[in-house]
Amino acid sequence: MDARLGDVIDDFCVKCRRLTNHSVVSLLNGAAAKVRCRTCYSDHDYRNEQAPPSKKDLKKAELFNAVLSGVAPPPAAPEEVTGDGVPKKAAKKPGKRAEA
Ligand SMILES: [Zn+2]
Repeated sequence: MDARLGDVIDDFCVKCRRLTNHSVVSLLNGAAAKVRCRTCYSDHDYRNEQAPPSKKDLKKAELFNAVLSGVAPPPAAPEEVTGDGVPKKAAKKPGKRAEA
């Protein structure tokens, strides 16, 4: 199961934009850390055969989040005032002890 230097494994190459054969050029804890594309010979971190999210997907996620925040806006925080419209700080009587 452990990868070894020089092993040929599949991975996604961003330059070739597809899964290609890669040689393991760096190992981390017995797993491929860096690989080299056998088609274009570019080195990159091993990405477990996962394609990175495309710009289109990122844009879509952005829109989705924007819609979500529009549907559920954060609750408004009204200014705290006493019954007669005077802010609490001003209404507080000076010198009074804080006893129950
Ligand atoms: Zn490539």
